[in-house]
Parts: sequence; C-alpha cells; structure tokens
Amino acid sequence: MYDHVFRAGCIGTMRLPHRIVMGAMHLNLETADDDGAALAAFYAERAAAGAALIVTGGVAVNAVGAGGPGYGVIGDSRTRAALSAAVRAVHERGGRIALQLFHAGRYALPGAREGAGHPVAPSPVHSAFARCTPREMSPEEITTTIADFAEGASAARALGFDAVEVMGSEGYLINQFTAPLTNLRDDAWGGDAARRRRFPLEVLRAVRAAVGRDFPVLFRISGNDLVTGGTPPDEITALAVALAEAGADALSVGVGWHESPVPTVQSEVPAGTWAACAKALKRALLAAGHTDVAVIAANRFPHLAQADEALSGGELDFVAMARPFLADPQIVAKSAAGRPDRVNVCIACNEACIDRSFGTERVSCLVNPRAGYETEFPPPQPTRHHRGPLGRYAVIGAGIAGLEAARTLAGLGHQVEVYEAAAHPGGQFRLASRVPGKAEFAATIHHHVRELRDAGVPLHLGRRLGSADIPELRSFDGVVLATGVRPAGLTLSGADLPHVRDYAQAFADPEALGGRIVVIGGGGIAVDLAHTLTTDPAAAVTPEEFLARHAVAGGTPRPGTQPAVRGAPCEVTLIRRGRRIGAGIGPSTRWVVMRNLRAAGVRMLTGVTYRKITPTGVLVTDAEGSERSLDADHVVLAVGQAPVDELAPLLHAAGVPVVTAGGAAGTDGLNAVRATAEGLRAAHRI
Ligand code: SF4
Repeated sequence: MYDHVFRAGCIGTMRLPHRIVMGAMHLNLETADDDGAALAAFYAERAAAGAALIVTGGVAVNAVGAGGPGYGVIGDSRTRAALSAAVRAVHERGGRIALQLFHAGRYALPGAREGAGHPVAPSPVHSAFARCTPREMSPEEITTTIADFAEGASAARALGFDAVEVMGSEGYLINQFTAPLTNLRDDAWGGDAARRRRFPLEVLRAVRAAVGRDFPVLFRISGNDLVTGGTPPDEITALAVALAEAGADALSVGVGWHESPVPTVQSEVPAGTWAACAKALKRALLAAGHTDVAVIAANRFPHLAQADEALSGGELDFVAMARPFLADPQIVAKSAAGRPDRVNVCIACNEACIDRSFGTERVSCLVNPRAGYETEFPPPQPTRHHRGPLGRYAVIGAGIAGLEAARTLAGLGHQVEVYEAAAHPGGQFRLASRVPGKAEFAATIHHHVRELRDAGVPLHLGRRLGSADIPELRSFDGVVLATGVRPAGLTLSGADLPHVRDYAQAFADPEALGGRIVVIGGGGIAVDLAHTLTTDPAAAVTPEEFLARHAVAGGTPRPGTQPAVRGAPCEVTLIRRGRRIGAGIGPSTRWVVMRNLRAAGVRMLTGVTYRKITPTGVLVTDAEGSERSLDADHVVLAVGQAPVDELAPLLHAAGVPVVTAGGAAGTDGLNAVRATAEGLRAAHRI
C-alpha cells in the first residue's frame, strides 16, 4: 500500500525513509514561557509516529521579520533554548527536523514585537492582511537581512538541526521581492526579472555559504502567487532553475498569498489541486539538467492516498503535509501499518489552526484537541487503573464533545458507555457535514465512533435519558454531560405559523424548502444553511475544474474570478439584527463563504429589526428605518441555540459526579473547537 510514499528518498545529503514531510506550521508555542517544553512535545510525538522530516514553523531571522508576537526570533536566547529542546526531542525519537528561516516583510503586524520597528518590505505597498503600509528597505537593510538569513542558518546547524528551509513563498518578504506587485524598486533589487530574483538568490547563496555544501537546504518557492501582479510564471520557472544552480537541495512549492482571492487550503479546494504547480517546476528543473534537486508538493493533501497518487507519476519527489499532522500525529504510522482507515482526517476547517496562527492563541485542532497541549495531555496510556471505585463512566450525548470525551476516557483505559438521544451520533457536527464542502466532517464522526467500537464502548443510540434513568447513572463513577443544544426560539408574532421552522428542521430536510426563503439570523449556522439551500450538494469539482473556475488554469494565474455556483433552486434572504453576516466564522474561511453566497445570489440584510412573520413573508424595519415586507414561502429561524442541560441538576441532586462539555455547558462562544476541547478536558476532570 502507498508504494510511492513508502520508499526512501534524499534531500541533498539527507536520506529519508519515506516521502512525507511534515510542513511548517506556526504554532504560537514558539515563545511559550516553558523552555520549549510544549514545542518539543508537539514535535516529538510526530517524530515518534514516523514523520520523515519535520519543518518547524517559521522562525524570524530578525525581530522586524517576526510575523507577530508569537513568533520566535533566531537571535533570541529563549527562542534558541526552545528550538534546542525541540531538536533534542525529535532526535531522541529518531526523527529529522529542519528550521524554517522566515521574514514576514509587509505581512508582519505593526507593533507586534517590542522594539522591532515598523514592518519593512521591498517597497511601501499597503498590506491588507497586516493593515499597514511597510517602510521601504534601504540597500543596506537588504544586505543586513541577507546576513541575518545566513546567521540564522549557522545557528540552526549549531543547534543540531538536520536542515534549513528558506521561506520564500506565501507572500512573505522573499516573495515580495519577486512579485512586481510589491517590488516597485528600480535599483539593484528590482526593476526587471533578474533584479527581482536577486534577493532570493543572494539569500540562498549566503545560507549555503554559512552552512557548507553538505548541509541540506530547502527553499520554499511560490508556485503561483495567485494575486494580480504576482511573480509571472516564466519568472517563477527561471527562479527555480537559478535556485538549483545556487545550491538548493530541494524546492518546496507553496501557492497563494494571504491577499489572494483564490482559496488554497479551504475545504472547497479539491485535494491535490496544487500538485500541478510543483510538477511544472520539476519539469523545468529536469529540462535544465538539475536531476538532483528534490521537488516537494504542498497544500491540500489530507490523505496519504492523495500524496501517493501525486507521487505516482514520478514528477514529484516528496509531499509536504502540515494540518494532517495536527489532526492525527500517527497519520504516517497508521498508514504504514496498512490502516489508513484509522486516521483522524483533517477536515480543512482551519478553525483551531490557521485562524489561531494569525493571532496569539495556541494552535490546536478541532478534531484532535490534544494538538498543542501534549504536555498537559500526554499520549493516552491505557493503565486499566480506574480512578473511581466502580471503574465506569457514562457520557451522555454523542455529539462532537461527547464523542471526544468518550474516546479520551476509553483511551485512558476506563470503561465507558455512551448514550445518545438521536438515532445517529454526531449532533450539530452531523448537520454541518451536510453543508456543501463540509462532507469531510462526517469522517470525524465515523473515526470517533470506530475508535469507540474498537475499544468496546457501547453506544446507546435513541436513548434519551431522564429522571427515570438516574438510578442507572448512579452505577457510574461519573458522568460527562454533553447533551448539546437545541435551536433557540424567537419571541415574534407569527413565529408559530406553519411555514416557519427552525434550522435543525431545515437541515434535516432542505429539499422541503423552496421558492422564497427568509432565514432569520446571520451567524455561522444561518450562513451554512443558505449555502446548503443554494448549492448543489453534488457540485464537487476536480482540481482541473477548480483551477478553471478560478481562472488559474493554463499556468496563467488570473485570480479574482468568482467561483461558479450551481443555479440556485430557491431565493434565499438572510436577515440579521447585527451588522455582520457570518461574524463567528474564522478569517481564513469567512471571505470564501461570503463570496460563495454572493455568487449564489443570496440577499443579505443587516441592521434590521424584526417586526412580525406573516403568512406571506417577514415584516422588518431596515437599517434606514423604513418598514419592508420580505416575501417568503418559508421562514427559517437560525437565531441561536439553547443548552440542553436538564439532566445536570438531577445528577447533582443524586450525588453523581458530573462535568458538562460543549453546548450543555453553555452557548456563549460555542463552536466545534470549544466543544471538542471541553470534551477532552471533561474526560480528564471527571
Ligand atoms: Fe485540520 Fe481543522 Fe484540525 Fe486545522 S483545525 S488541522 S483544518 S481539522
């Protein structure tokens, strides 16, 4: 199985046992005040489970190049101590680790680091991502920055790293030099193609000189900037060849900038879409005679099966996977053992990883809330030592919080029983799996249920527990109450009319809705529902179709085209009291979702006051104070949720220890990330 993945390969002098590299992820652990313990534990677990080479998250080569306050700076002694701990931990588990040398340029957040100064870039081109206009680098600063990359590489070697990767893609500083959009210079560092690629080449030469010929050097190159004014395709190819000539051992091929209008890592991007960019560069290298430079494809490889397929044609040497290692550190080990069906798959939600990496919160994973918290929750070691005298725990509710609690308890060696009122497990997460582009959410439910089955955990479906069941629950040492939420009601005249339903009813049978539909509410659930109602659920596309829809096909990026959405079977209007539709959706995903809704013709009215629901529509006062009647054949209430927690006081009164998790613990700030994290913590607390 996966013969193309599981064969040895080389990056320069470094021989690796297989073809999967763990790609760089900024974790916000890099500057934790723990001497690198959390960072080391995170990498160690993945090294132990067979990641051939781990590339660290970007470590800034100087303070002004740090992407934000959570970024390490290589010259900082605390950063070095943390990195040293990480190197030791990885080596102790037989792994290899490369340091990514990073400079954010105009993507650095102004004021993010004390004393770092204002962000710098080749030219003062405003960054919508960082919301600032950087200061233009002087020639002296450019020379100094090149030296900083070289010093960083020397430090990496001295710290015991096995390789370095120079971050030259995704719109960061080096990429800013190669793109006409952000390099407006007309000096030795810009003005034509040769001068635009001088900076990356000088950086690479300096790094190579610093570490010597035998030390593996990877360069992260942008295969397609996906922004208007990005590095032209012929200049990307020329840069790749020039980097090979300058001593790169491998090119890791990224795509897209933070300002790109084309999704690159969101769930709607078909797996393997961006492999074509890496293959194109490999062909260019081979044509130029560089047969010994490895090419690494990256982005949107959720399964090893897709990596194996990408490698099968012989046009690629390695595949870098990043988020899948958050979701399941064992992804390689399980696949190598012939059990890829046991992998906890990354669902490309970005909610606990990429969205957090933009801020300071610790990066984790929705489907694996232990990620990033390995020191707090070490790998489960079934001890068969039951903390309670009875040795049994009950989990009530098999939504995502309950499933997480149950699998954690089972992993700790406890006897567990799970009770679920519905006929199927999954709760709200199950509803989400019906949203176009979120079908992978079902994989999480299947994975967790399979783990429970393998552990012999009974899952009692269709069991709604009440006061009559308290005596039975007394036979457990404790209960994790994860009974979830129900749709909140709305006190509004007409809310009980027959053409009004709540969001759960709408998701259960979306085909029953048609014509003109008004959705009252504008949060994530309302947005998901509007997407479900207006998008053909069978509208999955191939990578080629995706590229064509976004005008990226043919190697000529023309980003900015709206994605095609199937003809809407109904007219949907979202109305919201607040000012922002989809406010709770993470920044890496919201813009994609909103664009899709607009493309599907969904009307969105904000700042409205609901007056009443009538048999033919909804009466509102709009943001300008005018009364409006919105025609509707159906009205859906998506105005929030209420906890289902009636069992809690009964359990307390009966003296049964109980810990609540997920929606049952309250709906403020509730999302699936919070729910799974609480499921994990509840299992350890009970
Ligand atoms: Fe994947 Fe979501 Fe986990 Fe990020 S949070 S690694 S996108 S499943």
